[in-house]
Amino acid sequence: MSPSHIEHIGIAVKDLKSAVRLYENLLGRECYKIEEVPGQKVRTAFFRIGEVKIELLESTDPEGPIGKFIEKRGEGVHHIAFAVNDIGKQLEIARDNNIGLINEIPQEGADGLDIAFIHPKSTSGVLIELCEDKRSGPE
Ligand code: ZN
Repeated sequence: MSPSHIEHIGIAVKDLKSAVRLYENLLGRECYKIEEVPGQKVRTAFFRIGEVKIELLESTDPEGPIGKFIEKRGEGVHHIAFAVNDIGKQLEIARDNNIGLINEIPQEGADGLDIAFIHPKSTSGVLIELCEDKRSGPE
């Protein structure tokens, strides 16, 4: 696989509203978008720091992935997202290399991205998200 850069870092939070306030103070800038992603059972808030974004994630369902994560491990860094140009091809390469996938096909993510998660068992315990911005097209 050949990601172009780190697209965002996902942080699981219990309360999005207070986390947004906290990060606005911490980063000295405003959250530029709040968006609910029903497919992932989350509400997200985004900050931009240079090329990288910070994605705060609040669960909308205790049985959703973020709800379960917080119950088991508490708040904290949840995933790192790599930007790729052809997510379908990257998933094929991952499969060919016996890398465990959570999503076999790309899903609709927040902020207009197509996303797929790689299983942390295949990545030294870090949940990795691949994402492709369909709006930007190939470089
Ligand atoms: Zn993400």
